[in-house]
Amino acid sequence: PEAFLSVRDLKVRFSTEDGIVKAVDGLSFDVERGKTLGIVGESGSGKSVTNLTVLGLHNPKSTTVEGEIVLDGQELVTATEREMEKIRGNKAAMIFQDPLTALSPYYTVGRQIAEPYMKHTGASKKEARQRTIEMLAKVGIPQPQTRVDDYPHQFSGGMRQRAMIAMALVCDPDLLIADEPTTALDVTVQAQILDLLKDLQQEFGSAIVFITHDLGVISDMADDLLVMYSGRAVERGTVREVLRNPQHPYTWGLLSSMPRLGGDTEQALTPIPGSPPSLLNPPSGCPFHPRCAFTGEVTGSRCSEERPALGEGRASACHLTAEQKQTIFIDKIQPR
Ligand code: SF4
Ligand code: MG
Repeated sequence: PEAFLSVRDLKVRFSTEDGIVKAVDGLSFDVERGKTLGIVGESGSGKSVTNLTVLGLHNPKSTTVEGEIVLDGQELVTATEREMEKIRGNKAAMIFQDPLTALSPYYTVGRQIAEPYMKHTGASKKEARQRTIEMLAKVGIPQPQTRVDDYPHQFSGGMRQRAMIAMALVCDPDLLIADEPTTALDVTVQAQILDLLKDLQQEFGSAIVFITHDLGVISDMADDLLVMYSGRAVERGTVREVLRNPQHPYTWGLLSSMPRLGGDTEQALTPIPGSPPSLLNPPSGCPFHPRCAFTGEVTGSRCSEERPALGEGRASACHLTAEQKQTIFIDKIQPR
């Protein structure tokens, strides 16, 4: 099936006082309609920047974007701001971790949901209000007829998150980008919101890009998974493949630093030693080499000199042989 969103060799650079930050450095991925792509990685891995760039929300003055972003046949890297405005909120929408980045304190929740609906569909005020109340009901806001006239500060944190989801979904976007949408919420509300997203995807057939550092959430939500490190994808596959049989030393690290699903969350976690790479002066060769415990298994100085490529389909960008990856994973990583 044809990808609904196709990103090819994306490079995003910011100029700063200290130099050029390579936030995204040659990233490719596809998302199909009705499917969810999970993107995981530590903060600074480029996952949020990638998705802000897809929606044209980067600062055009300080940012250079190269490569291709094709959404439903339309090239977005070269699109004008006017074309992007038509796409945002209508064909593609974003849910953020903090609803206050999307909701203004000065307008009622209802008005903020109704306005993009009127703008993109040409609906009347009355129709838009009706639609807004329906959307609030759909995301589980009790008594939406009365709450529609509340201001964001009159809503609880969980309700604001739901209102932002209603705002993102009001025009039935074909692509929904969710950036850590439930991180700030307690576990119960988090589970409700994730269920809601799954229901809405079933109803509307949207493609979802789900960004998180939480592999537990990803295993529940995503079909495919992309692991990012230093502005690049280091591993790709279906969620099952990547979580059951991870092939990249960075993914091994992520998995062993994650609490076991449904297990004791207070068990000691093993964080990945070392710190995330500088994006101003990224390490040579494999960007993970300063933190990798397995460079010794690779001949010579290859890890610090040669950048490993990510192949097509199920793949990991690492110089270890397929056999080494298998043996190391089964012998050293898997028994936890
Ligand atoms: Fe580790 Fe070398 Fe593989 Fe990079 S290429 S992840 S440094 S073994
Ligand atoms: Mg639509």
